[in-house]
Amino acid sequence: YGALYVVATPIGNLDDLSPRAARLLGEVAVIAAEDTRHSARLLRHLGLERPMLSLHEHNEAARVAQLAERLMAGDDVALISDAGTPLICDPGFVLVRELRDAGHRIVPVPGPCALVAGLSAAGLPTDRFTFIGFLPAKSAARRARLEGLAGRDETLVCYESPHRIRDTLADLAAVLGERRVVLARELTKTFETFLDGSAEMLLARMQEDPDQARGEFVVMIGGAPPREETDQALLEADQLLAALLAEGV
Ligand code: SAM
Repeated sequence: YGALYVVATPIGNLDDLSPRAARLLGEVAVIAAEDTRHSARLLRHLGLERPMLSLHEHNEAARVAQLAERLMAGDDVALISDAGTPLICDPGFVLVRELRDAGHRIVPVPGPCALVAGLSAAGLPTDRFTFIGFLPAKSAARRARLEGLAGRDETLVCYESPHRIRDTLADLAAVLGERRVVLARELTKTFETFLDGSAEMLLARMQEDPDQARGEFVVMIGGAPPREETDQALLEADQLLAALLAEGV
């Protein structure tokens, strides 16, 4: 039987493709790609020409049987997405689940992933974090999702597009307040930028310089302060208020 290689591809800088990934992409019998036209550019850059077939959310289930047949015929298959690691906010979950359930060999070929790249350079705690994918597109649903996460004390990470980054920052400011937010924009690309501050500060920065709202974003949000700190801050505020009242201010 052949194996399914789940191959991470660059998120901007083509030099980030690993030598192992490049070798495998040249060796497999077929490459299942989220968008074959997009991936054809990567293959051309590598000087490779391999048969490709599309695998996206609308045909993924239908592709399972077809690719299982290829594996049973002894062919190796690679799965790639438009950028980064397949299955991470990208197609492939159904394929991998079904093929694994059927006993096929699935081999990860690790490499670029925007959330890991962002976290590795943000300076927020990474011992524990929750990846929340894309937040809902509508503000009411987005705020509700954020409210559900407001008490979490680990770092929160989400993906965001340039169309919604400002609205998301506004909702972050409204729901989570003064938390430290780090934005990783255009990772590994020419205009890679890290911005950090409160959501409100970052929003003001984008009003000043609209270029800061362009490109792709990883949004990383500091966790809720530990309970004792919050309790302590409340206690101190109470004591201050009591002292002021006692002085008749
Ligand atoms: N599979 C990809 C990965 O491993 O990171 C993620 C695919 S998801 C459809 C696309 C989102 O990932 C973008 O909207 C953006 O939030 C994030 N992203 C991808 N490339 C990025 C980059 N170079 N810089 C910042 N964020 C990026």
